[in-house]
Amino acid sequence: MILPPPEEISTFNDALRRQKSRVFDLFSNSTAKSTVTFPLWGTSITVYANANLSIYSAQKCNASCRFCVEELRPASRGISLQFQKKTNVDDSDYFARLEQSLVAMAPLSPSLSITGGEPTKDPRLPRILQCVRQTPAKRRTLTTNASGLMDIHGGRRLLEHVADAHLNHLNISIADPDPRANGIQMGLRDGLTPAQLCDVVSTVASAGTRVRLSCVLLKSGVQGIDNLIAYLEFARSMGVDNVIFRQLMKSDPATHYSNSIVTFSDQQRVLLEPLLDQISCHPQFTFEKQIVGYYYYVEVWKYQGMDVVFEEADLAHLEAVKRQQPQIIHELVFHPNGRLASTWQPWDGVLGPPEDCDLLMIN
Ligand code: SF4
Repeated sequence: MILPPPEEISTFNDALRRQKSRVFDLFSNSTAKSTVTFPLWGTSITVYANANLSIYSAQKCNASCRFCVEELRPASRGISLQFQKKTNVDDSDYFARLEQSLVAMAPLSPSLSITGGEPTKDPRLPRILQCVRQTPAKRRTLTTNASGLMDIHGGRRLLEHVADAHLNHLNISIADPDPRANGIQMGLRDGLTPAQLCDVVSTVASAGTRVRLSCVLLKSGVQGIDNLIAYLEFARSMGVDNVIFRQLMKSDPATHYSNSIVTFSDQQRVLLEPLLDQISCHPQFTFEKQIVGYYYYVEVWKYQGMDVVFEEADLAHLEAVKRQQPQIIHELVFHPNGRLASTWQPWDGVLGPPEDCDLLMIN
């Protein structure tokens, strides 16, 4: 799962590494430093000017990562995914609502991010990609475990549909360079082979789309600088020059529903801060920038021409910022039930579309 677009600071500040999103201030240290206010279905909303709109695929994921962020988000609010995720099974109604929502967000021109579940196993993905391509946006991204990219839709590989969308980024989650170890870490039987991954990278590159590999840091997996460098060399061998390493996301012990995902995440979390302190002293890494988000902290480094991103996030801080600034929407999510909301919970911050909208006019 990929986090919303960044709020960035270009010169290194050690205090930011220590304090992270706790010092986030929209109007002084975010990228946009501003909000946009516009009418939405009969009311007025105020949204962070660099907000991300996630299109959350209804498709159940075919992997079973024990650190799954899709499951962690509802757990952080005290509910399990199975009780929260509802799907609008009427294609016509779903797409009418999606198109209505994308049109309504035109004054914002948000970054658009397709995520899941597993979007490449979603039969709706080719049409979602068409919607995204036609919508004005700052950036367009698809986040996936990539297992469905070779599937055939309408006589063509899904990969070709993805290339046609001319996305800015294709984010592929791979927890370990070794396919067998990756299959175990992610509980994924049908991940891409290295040859297929090379094919994906070159096919989308010819359409202007850059692949980024996403790797979680795990005590039982990739951890420590030697592992990081081995992963980066694997990425380079696949034709990828952009990698993100993620600390397992934190949730609030006071509110979370303590399931196996929360427990595993707490047991397996490799702390990013000491790793970054080692990176700072490593001669092969050079600093690029720091990014402070409303519940995440990011550093970007260069390693032999490659972009290397480090990210950590705390869902407890997300809730704290929402409480401090309830009048400002920081991100948007189009849920599988066909509702646009300002949170990852389809029951919290629902914005529309209203039931009385003339949705069928869009079809
Ligand atoms: S790939 Fe893993 S983390 Fe991503 S949605 Fe599937 S199970 Fe969750």
